[in-house]
Amino acid sequence: MRLILLGPPGAGKGTQAARLVQKHGIVQLSTGDMLRAAVAAGTPVGLKARAIMEAGGLVSDEIVIGIIRDRIAEPDAAKGFILDGFPRTVAQAEALETLLHEAGLKLDAVIELKVDQGALVGRIIKRAEETRAAGQPVRKDDDPEIFKTRLAAYNRDTAAVTPFYAARGQLTVIDGMQPIEAVAQAIDAVLGA
Ligand code: AMP
Repeated sequence: MRLILLGPPGAGKGTQAARLVQKHGIVQLSTGDMLRAAVAAGTPVGLKARAIMEAGGLVSDEIVIGIIRDRIAEPDAAKGFILDGFPRTVAQAEALETLLHEAGLKLDAVIELKVDQGALVGRIIKRAEETRAAGQPVRKDDDPEIFKTRLAAYNRDTAAVTPFYAARGQLTVIDGMQPIEAVAQAIDAVLGA
């Protein structure tokens, strides 16, 4: 099973992806997680990405496409994967289409979690509080001001990715404001699982 979860930061993509990983034994490919790991490890990619990520901007298409190209080719991705946080631009979506075509792979679903953007800042504040309460480090970009920059990047660059998939008849939109369980059920219905 191969699917893409689309939606603005804080829409619940990571939460739903983690559940689908458990349920279907597929891997979650989050470019945000991979970039954070690169930053933590101080790799050349991490060094390039760090300041951009901390400011809430988008890392270059070239870097993230390279990361995904390598990651999809890993053996553990053979059973299937969920892309979370990628593609974030139409150029990334086009590159992914070419990559999958070359590998003879097809997407089973592209799901957009549609949310009320006004409610997202509150969700992010909650995520930061819960992470802090669990004694874990809080993401620097889960700060209300930086979050607004991330949302602006979404509206400027990523909002165009949904029409890209809609035009190909691949897009399903789900109401991401529902409780987590209801969103999960709606996703399962799309996947027929
Ligand atoms: P996320 O965890 O998906 O919210 O990503 C955190 C940050 O990583 C984003 O704000 C971007 O700076 C960077 N990032 C993650 N995925 C991408 C992508 N597909 N394209 C560009 N930048 C990305």
